[in-house]
Amino acid sequence: MVCMVHYIHTMKHSKSSDSALHQNFLRQLQKLWPAIKGSLAEVRKPCIRSNCPACARGDKHPAFMLSFTDKGRRRCMYVPTEMVPQLQHALRNGKALEELLYQLGPELLREYRKQRDAPSPD
Ligand SMILES: [Zn+2]
Repeated sequence: MVCMVHYIHTMKHSKSSDSALHQNFLRQLQKLWPAIKGSLAEVRKPCIRSNCPACARGDKHPAFMLSFTDKGRRRCMYVPTEMVPQLQHALRNGKALEELLYQLGPELLREYRKQRDAPSPD
């Protein structure tokens, strides 16, 4: 019986607090894994071999770096080549997530107004 009471309670609440907006947000969030912020740049770095022709020519070796902000500090890390596509995807997801957060403010306000102005069910 306790479960049934809880169920009815949840149903009543689902109208307002656990809204379609919330469900939609969770669904979108699920699709946006992994999401990161930062920027990926191709750089050229020398290697450790003593007689490397590429380094002797000044061409060096292409490498990727991820730049990001850590507690307000600009930092970067080398990225293994095979991880580049995954990070590019994660960066796109990061932008999409940011878009989602910007949209959520006005949507919450609109939803609030709609419920406030709706005629009472009684
Ligand atoms: Zn080299």
